[in-house]
Amino acid sequence: MIEQSSSHGGRVTLVGAGPGAADLMTVRAVRALQSADVVFYDRLAPTDALREWAPQAQLFDVGKRPGHHRVTQENIHSMMLSSASTGQHVVRLKGGDPFVFGRGCEEVAACRDAGVPVTVVPGVTSAISVPAAAGIPVTARNVTRTFTVISGHDPLSDDELSGLVSLGGTAVILMGVGTLGNTLTGLHRMGMSPTTPVAVVERGFSDEQRVLIDGSANMIATAAAAKIRPPAVLVVGEVVSLAAASDDEGRAVLNPDNALSELRAMANQS
Ligand code: SAH
Repeated sequence: MIEQSSSHGGRVTLVGAGPGAADLMTVRAVRALQSADVVFYDRLAPTDALREWAPQAQLFDVGKRPGHHRVTQENIHSMMLSSASTGQHVVRLKGGDPFVFGRGCEEVAACRDAGVPVTVVPGVTSAISVPAAAGIPVTARNVTRTFTVISGHDPLSDDELSGLVSLGGTAVILMGVGTLGNTLTGLHRMGMSPTTPVAVVERGFSDEQRVLIDGSANMIATAAAAKIRPPAVLVVGEVVSLAAASDDEGRAVLNPDNALSELRAMANQS
């Protein structure tokens, strides 16, 4: 991205922080933090080492929890722009990749509209890395050559549900804990097999990471019983069966009695 020059010398760097593990930040992300005067960070960004990475910066938590919009998007824009207008290097640290459901493009537009130079540092998105933390590849040769990343923040429409079913690849659903039952019953209604393997990966890369694997019909009750909470990534599709074989890392996998043993058998056959 080409940097414009600004009269005050301030600038904004939108930084993708990856899925929460400090060592999944990029070198470029850490470099941006080193020269930051002020950092506005999100809930899902790794914050433990922030003081070390951004030693001279003022740190502001502008994280939003589901249902608790602590700082509005407009407020975030105006805080970033007012800091930049005093000549500061503003780092906006966001979970995952800034352009995947991160409102990154709105923040870039706000900077551009205000004539503030802005650059974007891509990050490791949870859409691919959190399934991987559970041993699930989003594509696999001879299994699927397509994966769709979709937001489950609002219930999926019938068109979206039938599109996913007819595509038949991997569906990766972010922000999908609240709508999990709705999504899975909708997929069944559109013709998806109720035994399609599904994984829910909660708090990927943290000490509290939990992985649930079950058939899609069972998963509604399995996830409810496990009291799954955000952040979690939902993965629907045959690739999930590949995880069962490799998930021997001591991660909690619930419901081993039914679907999982079948999945293990499937994975061992292939
Ligand atoms: N820009 C981010 C996504 C923001 S939407 C990215 O590229 O990763 C927030 C959603 O991301 C959460 O609701 C959850 O579905 C997912 N998510 C992010 N980090 C996660 C993690 N460590 N474990 C599980 N899910 C995560």
